[in-house]
Amino acid sequence: MNPFQLLQPETLEEALSLLNTDDPSVRPVAGGTALMLMMKSKVFTPHTLVSLQRLKPSLSGIRLDDAGDLHLGPLASLRDVERSPVVAEFTPVITQAMQTLSNVRVRNVATVGGHLAHGDPHMDLPPILMALDARVRISGQAGEREVALPEFLTGYYTTVLNPSELITDVVVPALPNGLSGTYLKYTALSADDWPMCGVAAFVRMQGGVVAEARVAVSAATERPVRLTGVESFLRGRRPAAEAFEEAAELAAAGVHPLADIRGSSGYKREIVKVCVRRALEQALAARTRNGGVAHE
Ligand SMILES: Cc1cc2nc3c(=O)[nH]c(=O)nc-3n(C[C@H](O)[C@H](O)[C@H](O)COP(=O)(O)OP(=O)(O)OC[C@H]3O[C@@H](n4cnc5c(N)ncnc54)[C@H](O)[C@@H]3O)c2cc1C
Repeated sequence: MNPFQLLQPETLEEALSLLNTDDPSVRPVAGGTALMLMMKSKVFTPHTLVSLQRLKPSLSGIRLDDAGDLHLGPLASLRDVERSPVVAEFTPVITQAMQTLSNVRVRNVATVGGHLAHGDPHMDLPPILMALDARVRISGQAGEREVALPEFLTGYYTTVLNPSELITDVVVPALPNGLSGTYLKYTALSADDWPMCGVAAFVRMQGGVVAEARVAVSAATERPVRLTGVESFLRGRRPAAEAFEEAAELAAAGVHPLADIRGSSGYKREIVKVCVRRALEQALAARTRNGGVAHE
């Protein structure tokens, strides 16, 4: 690795002032799990890294607010999220997804903020947060803004973040009563590999029909996406096998998978179809189990 300078601000204001520069080789670093890989392969050669570690006491909390919204501090590690009783009570789908994310060494170090800011479409948490209507709070010299996840993740490894901005909170709105869900991922190379397809599905039933469906797909797509066409197709329908099959066909027709070492575009489209159908079935079945996560 090339030598670089490591700055360790004590406050958010100090960190923001250090990032407020025109030099593109100045970058914040949280857990460093993604950045270090890029630096070792020389994809990214920073002049200066601004470590966020000393902001941990103020930016790693996991809590519910008075409205019942869940807040995930950007410096909470993925292991903190996995072990949080607050998260488990809010939805076990997040807890269980964390348990199969890579390995415990990565989860101990990787942070929520780095996970989202990296913009890698193969991450496990973004499709779940997207299906849960999460918003990202961002701070910069000009002030604060809040962005919904579909607008935050703009493309393949890209987000709306300016180089001088930091994620300061992730807010998941309180869930409506009766919403049950699942996260299902398919790994093509090994059990603990990055997902080749991830599907988060949530359903809420009323009077024997689907009152609300939420479906987000990641990894097979260039960025996580909400399948709004599938969601409206399911609304008002009885949750019969044919409806889920048709919804899965719609999902596959609506995505544009990128070919890579984990599979061709056509193969990934088939996997999306299978995963969406199974995720919907499992989300429905999870009503009696209060949430769930599946791994293929
Ligand atoms: C071997 C390995 C296997 C993995 N497998 C999986 C997997 O199966 N599933 C999965 O989901 N993930 C997987 N990951 C990815 C892991 O989840 C991410 O690398 C991690 O979440 C990134 O977090 P970090 O804190 O280490 O980010 P860093 O590496 O510190 O930073 C990543 C990016 O985010 C920016 N950044 C960090 N914090 C902030 C902030 N608060 N505001 C603004 N920008 C910020 C940095 O500048 C950088 O651009 C794997 C990683 C490794 C190394």
